Amino acid sequence: MKGNKVQQEVAQYRITRLFDLAKESLNPKSPMNGLGSRYIRIAEEISSHYRIKIPDNVRLYICRSCHNPLVPGINAKVRVVSEKGYISYTCACGAERHIFYK
Ligand SMILES: [Zn+2]
Repeated sequence: MKGNKVQQEVAQYRITRLFDLAKESLNPKSPMNGLGSRYIRIAEEISSHYRIKIPDNVRLYICRSCHNPLVPGINAKVRVVSEKGYISYTCACGAERHIFYK
């Protein structure tokens, strides 16, 4: 595959930016309210099109089931499961995401 570094950097930037927009869209006062999962899907399409990875600080905070960003206090409940070594994010849709810290 032809690796175009600039193109990949731009794609990476767009993914991070889309994730920020997705988080903003969770605000009920935002004009983008409700578009979170669309932004995330676009970010996922960019990542597969340019064959780049979604950065960890974005990838870990996306609900796998409804494709919304997980923001504690807004649409996600956070719980620490210390005996198993992970943080559990429960999305508003009911799906759980486990983030291991050990
Ligand atoms: Zn969800």
